[in-house]
Amino acid sequence: QAKKRGRNNFQWYSSDLNASVTDFLNIRNHMQKAIEGNEFTLHYQPKFDLRSQRCSGIEALARWHHPIMGEISPSRFIPVAEQTGFIISFSEWALRQACKDFKILQKADPELPSVSVNISVLHFLRDNFVDSIREILREAEFEPACLDLEITESVLLSDPEDSIKKMRALKKLGLSLSLDDFGTGFSSFSYLKKLPIDTLKIDRSFIADLTHEKGDAAIVQGIISMSHHLGLRVVAEGVESKAQLNFLQRALCDEIQGFLKARPMPLQAIESFMSQYRQQVEVEKEADIMLP
Ligand code: C2E
Ligand code: MG
Ligand code: MG
Ligand code: MG
Repeated sequence: QAKKRGRNNFQWYSSDLNASVTDFLNIRNHMQKAIEGNEFTLHYQPKFDLRSQRCSGIEALARWHHPIMGEISPSRFIPVAEQTGFIISFSEWALRQACKDFKILQKADPELPSVSVNISVLHFLRDNFVDSIREILREAEFEPACLDLEITESVLLSDPEDSIKKMRALKKLGLSLSLDDFGTGFSSFSYLKKLPIDTLKIDRSFIADLTHEKGDAAIVQGIISMSHHLGLRVVAEGVESKAQLNFLQRALCDEIQGFLKARPMPLQAIESFMSQYRQQVEVEKEADIMLP
């Protein structure tokens, strides 16, 4: 059993088997309790529109603070949650929490367009995924247009036609769809043109060396123009430097997200960040108008 699982996941199988198995068992055992004990929270990282400078949305990123183990990053616990099936209840928790939090944030910034929630491929592929999203929206009395789901290309691996159907059904609910980590999966351009998505997020691995790797610069520029021709908006992930920002601006990228502008932060911090940021943009806009 363990062997079978191990083969399917190099993350804890490859490097240090013993330590990783312990890690796996620990994390698995603690996850259910963690939901009940409110150990999970969502942090939020804003995205910014490069034209208007405004915050174009926020992305929910899960955080786990365990009373003894401390902070456990999503790249450690999400894979375990996926292997144990726990990801379904976790995902539903995250969606409900994001809807609740967004309503609070909308009070701080009524113009905040939407909240993005990361969706695990395993959750997406479940037969009742669309129904569960509809149900969560209904229960939360949440405006569907304010929800954006981030999925990855991996949803296309097993049954692409079926996944595309699901995506259309989701769009019909009124929400928007983003393709996350673009460029790292097995992207097939023949599918890309068929996907009913709104936004494409360029993986941060391409942004990292953008300013000193000609290849990456070419790829990023290419993804941006291709996306625009397909009618998609483009977000660059992991923007850390002014030089990257300048490149992306010249390349006509629509939105950026990254440590340069803002890190993921807890609900209260994002609340004050947003009202401050809004005022700052207003002041800058007024200063622009005043210029001769
Ligand atoms: P992602 O969705 O691609 O999220 C972006 C990750 O990059 C986040 O890591 C974020 O903190 C980090 N990041 C943002 N800006 C920068 C930057 O400028 N530089 C660098 N070096 N990193 C940056 P995080 O929060 O550790 O999340 C890792 C991954 O875990 C996410 O990647 C996502 O795939 C997954 N994840 C997080 N929360 C959830 C969740 O609630 N549900 C599911 N299914 N997956 C989640
Ligand atoms: Mg994401
Ligand atoms: Mg991403
Ligand atoms: Mg990523």
